[in-house]
Amino acid sequence: MSGGRLLRRLAMVLALLAAAISAQAGPAVAEADKPVVTGARVAGDESRTRFVLDMDRQVTPVISGLPSPYRLIIDLPEVTFSLPADAGKEGRGLVGDWRFGLFATGKSRVVMDLTGPVKVDKTFFLPAVDDQPARLVVDLVRSSAKDFDAFVESSKVKKSAQVTKPAPKSDRLTDPKEKDKPLIVLDPGHGGIDSGATGVHGALEKAIVLDFANLLKAKLDESGLYTVELTRDDDTFVPLSRRVEIGHELEADLFISIHADSVRRGQKFARGATVYTISDKASDQLSEDLAVSENMSDVIAGVDLDEEPTDVTDILLDLARRETRSFSVYFARSLVSELESAVRLINNPHRSAGFRVLKAHDVPSVLVELGYLSNEHDEKLLISDEWRERMASAMTEAVHGFFRPRLARQQEAPSQ
Ligand code: ZN
Repeated sequence: MSGGRLLRRLAMVLALLAAAISAQAGPAVAEADKPVVTGARVAGDESRTRFVLDMDRQVTPVISGLPSPYRLIIDLPEVTFSLPADAGKEGRGLVGDWRFGLFATGKSRVVMDLTGPVKVDKTFFLPAVDDQPARLVVDLVRSSAKDFDAFVESSKVKKSAQVTKPAPKSDRLTDPKEKDKPLIVLDPGHGGIDSGATGVHGALEKAIVLDFANLLKAKLDESGLYTVELTRDDDTFVPLSRRVEIGHELEADLFISIHADSVRRGQKFARGATVYTISDKASDQLSEDLAVSENMSDVIAGVDLDEEPTDVTDILLDLARRETRSFSVYFARSLVSELESAVRLINNPHRSAGFRVLKAHDVPSVLVELGYLSNEHDEKLLISDEWRERMASAMTEAVHGFFRPRLARQQEAPSQ
């Protein structure tokens, strides 16, 4: 690595460290200190709907709205959601379905899909009495699109003081000494409030892909050849653009996003590992559908897409992008040939579509569907230690193959 590149990377690590110390996302909370949500209910009808959270103590919520689709967001300090797995699957009145989970360190969130524009009529907290727990109550009434837009704007101001990008943790940062090693970013999909797909027997994509990423990291670390970073190492939501940014900021040499999605009804027989690269036009319908649902991750978590950076058109960037894409395709092909002898693959296992998480113009990136949770047989494999071991070993071999020329060059001419 050239001196200049090393310096740039060092400066970047220091900047990230500073960002982590300034603790934008708030301090982590010990499990026992967190308020607990013990129950949740929706009552009412299309003109007036009440949403209630039972809690073991009082918290201060920040409520905001997001348009297209209409959503209501309740931001809370980090809480433990002690709710049944199917909570939120069914709404009522003005509330369609709703979901909950960790949004960032120190912050939990409830996101409701609304059946139309609403107004927050009242928000209040009822203290615990006798056998009744304390309750956070949010009353919604039907409203107009215009009033909802005004509510979205006014809630943005309140939120901007509160919502910040989660910074990578300082313990994740690479040691500057190790900078000559290829840097690989593993990206377990979903997390926190975005659970991803749910298997036929209840396995959660966000948990499966985190476990797998940890296993793959351990295997790559074992070789001593690479520096490996994760975009998340716990059950926290990470916006898609932040995942791309982490790869870019760390000047990663390879980015592997890991998923185990569901495919649409009618395609439920689709199964087997698949390797995706980015393309403007999808290779097929299944890939197109998957990219659309994957790209919904930020909508599910209630990220304000207005605050997301827009794409820059630049001829130099385009050239870099084209070169990066050819590296991505090269890695995808070698990954497929490595996986072929280890696990079951889908037919045409290298596919492509417009996945936002693969957008870095300077980091070769692939998205691996380990399998599809919509398929019962795949779900079984995804939770089997034996299968995961085989899959992780095959992926490690493919990574070795990808970096072999570079590692050989480094051995011939050791850098100073
Ligand atoms: Zn996914």
